[in-house]
Amino acid sequence: MVSPKEVYEEAKKREDENLLFRNFLKANADEKELDKQFRRLHNEIFSGYDCDKCRNCCKEYDIIIPEQDLERDAKKLGMKKNVFISLFLERDKDDGSYVVRKKPCFFLEPDGKCVLGNCRPKECKEYPYTNQPERLHSLYNMLETIEVCPVAFEIYERLKEEYGFGGGSSFKSEGSKSIIKNTKDFLKHYKLIPTSAAGIEAVSFMMPEIEEMVIKKAEDIVKMSDEDLACEKMISEANTKEDFFKLMRKPMKGMNRSKLRKRLLENEEMLMPLIKQKSLKNGQDYFIENAFYFFAHAEEDCCNWIMSNYNDFRNEYMKSMLCLVLGIRGKEDVIPFLKSQVVRFILDYPDELFEQGPLYGMDILIERLDG
Ligand code: SF4
Ligand code: SF4
Repeated sequence: MVSPKEVYEEAKKREDENLLFRNFLKANADEKELDKQFRRLHNEIFSGYDCDKCRNCCKEYDIIIPEQDLERDAKKLGMKKNVFISLFLERDKDDGSYVVRKKPCFFLEPDGKCVLGNCRPKECKEYPYTNQPERLHSLYNMLETIEVCPVAFEIYERLKEEYGFGGGSSFKSEGSKSIIKNTKDFLKHYKLIPTSAAGIEAVSFMMPEIEEMVIKKAEDIVKMSDEDLACEKMISEANTKEDFFKLMRKPMKGMNRSKLRKRLLENEEMLMPLIKQKSLKNGQDYFIENAFYFFAHAEEDCCNWIMSNYNDFRNEYMKSMLCLVLGIRGKEDVIPFLKSQVVRFILDYPDELFEQGPLYGMDILIERLDG
């Protein structure tokens, strides 16, 4: 945990990321769920933290003593109200409230205790407000609070980790069981949409027998048109890279698509360099979906190639489907990356379903690790 001395500097280092996370929460978090998360983390972290060794809040803020507290506080210190005011307080120039005249606060004792004890202002008792309701509406204040309060800083860092923000610094040191639990917790915040492109491909991948059954049924029921028959012939006769590349971009019925995909895999050695090269630039949907299938089923494991070239892929849909490949074929070390892509897709493309690729990827990966 960050020390009281370092908290300001550490918060400043993360300023951009923290603002981005604030915007992300504002756009996506559920108000009640977020309050619950704040409360859980607040209780957990404060229960093991000794505020008397910090007291940054008593050192950094202008402390207002409410008018209704003056009499009681003066009595607590064994003096008259007017003496209490003249010794310790001054009027705020803007709103006339009584403010403690000195920073660190007059009432802070060297051992970190407050002279006012239980008579200290309500604001002091409630600070840093992380267990108070409606956190979603106070996220800007939270950004200031984490520059002062190490506990609030830690709460925000843990929240970022739970939502997959940042690099997941503690991730590498976790055991497999924690990784699975941590990822399951992450997935709880997001909705898997089975009708999204990634959802459909993921289900076909997990249950290939069902897809085959559906295609078989369709073959029995639906009569092939002349166009379908011509396409089927093109697929069976394709033998050059150009033939296959053309077919990968062609709209076709499920049964022909399935035949094409089988032929792509039969010709993996010839097609792998071409499909890799075209994937970097091509943004056509049919091509992307066929390329996904190819990478997901090919003998060659393309995860390292995907990771090293990820920033060079021009198309975001392609990136989303490649995240699904990473989940299908990668190891647990891709999880922090997949989490970061979920967050990036949601922030950058709120009207698309690109986040479904990394979400389904993680879902499948966790199933594999757990199984
Ligand atoms: S509330 Fe925060 S800033 Fe105040 S003493 Fe405790 S940890 Fe430090
Ligand atoms: S009144 Fe007490 S708790 Fe509040 S800032 Fe001063 S010393 Fe800290």
